[in-house]
Amino acid sequence: DRTLLLAGNWKMNHDHLEAISTVQKLAWALEDAKLDDSQCEVVVVPPFTDIRSVQTLVQGDKLWLRYGAQDVSRHEPGAHTGEIAATFLARLGCTYVVVGHSERRADNHETNDVVAAKVKAALGHDLLPILCVGESLAQREEGSHVDFTLTQLEESLEGLGADDLQGLVVAYEPVWAIGTGKTATAEDAAEMATAIRGRLRERYGDALADSTRILYGGSVKTDNVADILVSDDVDGALVGGASLSGPDFAALCKAAV
Ligand code: 13P
Repeated sequence: DRTLLLAGNWKMNHDHLEAISTVQKLAWALEDAKLDDSQCEVVVVPPFTDIRSVQTLVQGDKLWLRYGAQDVSRHEPGAHTGEIAATFLARLGCTYVVVGHSERRADNHETNDVVAAKVKAALGHDLLPILCVGESLAQREEGSHVDFTLTQLEESLEGLGADDLQGLVVAYEPVWAIGTGKTATAEDAAEMATAIRGRLRERYGDALADSTRILYGGSVKTDNVADILVSDDVDGALVGGASLSGPDFAALCKAAV
């Protein structure tokens, strides 16, 4: 029941007009490739300012792809200048929200505490969090990558129980593989996905461990995605650069199914 999930994180690329043309081309290319939601779930994750346009297109054309946001406030609506509340994203039809991406952890000093509060805010408004975890190059080289990533996972879920976490998605994104062209090997991705599922099992029990989708992210492309997905514990991919073009992302999805 862990449907293959292919999510395209656009990061800070594409304004709302480019978003419309990108999603339109993605939809056409998915149709040409004869892909549908019986084979995989395809998600685009554009900047906040694009979401309303994406919603209009997806709902207007009854597209089967889904969309989400790249971040969410930990707060409820109120005096928090510049923040975006989970409830607003839910109203725009978002299914997912990426939480704790390494770029936000680095650029915006997001700690595991903050990330846990965002996971909670998302789940509280029926948004499914795509929680990002993963080690730096230094941590991998010294061999502490598994411990580091599992600690990050636990601390980013602090205060939440198995009942709260239904629908959680975890994305393992080793920082050294993001935007660098260096992909973790299929074995590296499998090792960590298995470790993450094992830790979820210990902490939250079989049902949550067996239903949580675990993605790999970091320089995933059309020509390496099938390899990355070989492990039973890797349920999809979080794709950056290779999701920016509709046809390219559709080709990647086709290669993944
Ligand atoms: P790239 O696919 O560009 O390496 O980005 C990965 C990523 O950070 C997705 O969230």
